[in-house]
Amino acid sequence: MAKYADVIIDISRGQLDKSFQYRIPAELEDRIRIGSRVRVSFGSDRRKIRGYVIGISEKAKLEEAKIRPIDGTVRDAIDIESQLISLAVWMKDHYGSTLNQALKTVLPIKVKAAAREKKNLRLLLPPEEARGELACMRARKRHSVAKERLLEALIQDQSLPWELVTGELNIPSASIRDLEKRGWLAVESFRSMRNPLAALQKSEKRIWLNEQQEQAFQAFAADWDLGRRGTYLLYGVTGSGKTQVYMEMIAKVLSQGKEAIVLIPEISLTYQTVMRFYSRFGDQVSILNSRMSAGERSDQFERAKEEKVRIMVGPRSALFTPFPNLGLIVIDEEHENSYKSETVPKYHARETAVERARLSSASVVLGSATPSLEAFSRAKRGEYSLLSLPSRVENRALPDCQVVDLREELREGNRSVISRRLGQLIEDRLKKKEQIMLFINRRGMAGFVSCRSCGSVIKCPHCEVALTLHKNGRMSCHYCGYSMPAPRTCPRCGSRFIGGMRAGTEKFEEVIRRTFPGARVLRMDADTTRSKGGYQRILGAFANQEADILIGTQMIVKGHDFPNVTLVAALAADLSLNSSDFRGAERTFQLLCQAAGRAGRGDRPGKMVIQTYQPGHFAIVDAARQDYESFYDQEMAYRSLMSYPPAAHMLVVQIMSDSEQAAESAAALFAELLRRARPGGRIDGPVKARIAKLADVYRQAIYIRDEDYDLLIADKNRIEDRLLADRSLRAVNVWFDFDPMNAF
Ligand code: ADP
Ligand code: ZN
Ligand code: ZN
Repeated sequence: MAKYADVIIDISRGQLDKSFQYRIPAELEDRIRIGSRVRVSFGSDRRKIRGYVIGISEKAKLEEAKIRPIDGTVRDAIDIESQLISLAVWMKDHYGSTLNQALKTVLPIKVKAAAREKKNLRLLLPPEEARGELACMRARKRHSVAKERLLEALIQDQSLPWELVTGELNIPSASIRDLEKRGWLAVESFRSMRNPLAALQKSEKRIWLNEQQEQAFQAFAADWDLGRRGTYLLYGVTGSGKTQVYMEMIAKVLSQGKEAIVLIPEISLTYQTVMRFYSRFGDQVSILNSRMSAGERSDQFERAKEEKVRIMVGPRSALFTPFPNLGLIVIDEEHENSYKSETVPKYHARETAVERARLSSASVVLGSATPSLEAFSRAKRGEYSLLSLPSRVENRALPDCQVVDLREELREGNRSVISRRLGQLIEDRLKKKEQIMLFINRRGMAGFVSCRSCGSVIKCPHCEVALTLHKNGRMSCHYCGYSMPAPRTCPRCGSRFIGGMRAGTEKFEEVIRRTFPGARVLRMDADTTRSKGGYQRILGAFANQEADILIGTQMIVKGHDFPNVTLVAALAADLSLNSSDFRGAERTFQLLCQAAGRAGRGDRPGKMVIQTYQPGHFAIVDAARQDYESFYDQEMAYRSLMSYPPAAHMLVVQIMSDSEQAAESAAALFAELLRRARPGGRIDGPVKARIAKLADVYRQAIYIRDEDYDLLIADKNRIEDRLLADRSLRAVNVWFDFDPMNAF
């Protein structure tokens, strides 16, 4: 049976959607796989070129006779592009996207050099001679001021950037050409490989690992020496020195001629973090971040490919750095939401890193003080090796944490958002000139209904998630569509203090300013950080102690050290706890633990306050005690009971159309298709998405749960096949989201 290969020819220019079919000769059949580098003849002139195989099929797309054979494979064909192409194919199958979308995500696209082309003017005359010429020019009657100025500047610096000469110095290009013709100067162009860290200094100061860090490192090193590669979970409380351990592991891998990728959430990718890596590894480090231009990013990938840098630090997308000899991928703060892509393919960096490491024979280290349930359950099953750092460096104490019951405040007649206890503590810190951070656990919109007298929340009887309140006074479940009218009194205690709880940082700021008129207050939220650099500016001002109180969304507690902060408070922990999706408790626990890690980073002990209407909720109780394992056991029991990830897998099928009717009928059609194919499967919906209409697009969702990931992939394939076959579905767009991190 003849087999055919789809070959892409020019990946460097991003021509990924054009593949060409070639025949696989029988003698090459064993050697050609997805990702293989092959030699083919191309175009009418049949020039010999190289390409990559991105697909293999048994069906010819053209007349058999018109399909040319593959000439051969390229030796040492397992180059970095081959690995990344295999990774793209895995992502396409695993997360649901087109091959083209997956290839565009993983392959480094060279950005045109033109934008980066730089020109320099260089003086060719010896400076003495040039001075002589300058004097002659000046002595002439009709002398040219521009040429003289240029010559003078070149005598001083010998080499000048083109932009400076034509810009600031304002020299016409005719004058430049004239001096060039005389052979006095040369215009040289070179491609500058921008180095974003060029200005930093390497430091010699070295920190030695303490005993528990050493143990964690040695476990990794022993495996490495035996040639064992795998995935490790470095579970260490905040301040236990995880970064120091990563750096030893990186040094080990580098010493064997390998390279390392370090993923850090964008929000904590600060100057300080980068500096820690730079001061240890110097010029071997480079960074990626979202503020870089496409050209700068492309440069970084090029430098990595040529092994001019050997450690890449960056957010999720740095995972695709084309290191040819990758040895290690570190994912810091592994539990962070930002590791899941929000665009198709909706990949998670954790699983994708594990697959990339498998293809490159590398290891993966995941680090967190509050591991995701996914990671910890895999560590418990032995799929990942668990390395623990149970105490803080130099045995620094964790902050003292106090839970304040807001129901009691209400009973005592205090209806302010600031409890009496928190009020006292704020007064005290203001007097001592210490700083305070107040944050609101807000994620998107909180639309739940709860009772301020007893704390209970109205939940879906089938899905155990908070119901979402709508403008029409009804509440509905975002997974199964169950709905009911919002009650006027609490079904549990009869109180009339029941209703939606909505709180913005702005409103809190107002209350704080009114209650503490002497305090200097800064607010940080989506509004105040919208401008470029707004985020860094606010944090910088707070670090310089230009304010006493920083109030904001949870973004203020992520990854920043303020030694003068001795009080941190969550103003309303319930806002993230009562989520309309199943991850609410986990997110709340992580956030509160992380916030506690912010208090008392200096030498003074820190204090944390959690205000809540549900002081008995395990996520609150365990966060206050910093007891991860107790939290894990209880949360995992809930996930198992309800078949939520990671106890099972979940696939969200998102159906979108600018016609409401088209979205609804397509969603109904898919749901029926799936139910018929797998009777008894756990399929919920279709329901209107939580944001039912966004930018004039109507959105529907179907939720499928199963322990077997492959069954979900089969469901995805059914829908994809139907979409291809059915012309009436042209008006809808479908996205797949496996094991979603965010409520859709
Ligand atoms: P984590 O990432 O676990 O929260 P960090 O790596 O940020 O912890 O370390 C916390 C602080 O402890 C840092 O200032 C770091 O320089 C310091 N540190 C780490 N390891 C050691 C060590 N072995 N001896 C002394 N200080 C250390
Ligand atoms: Zn009640
Ligand atoms: Zn439900």
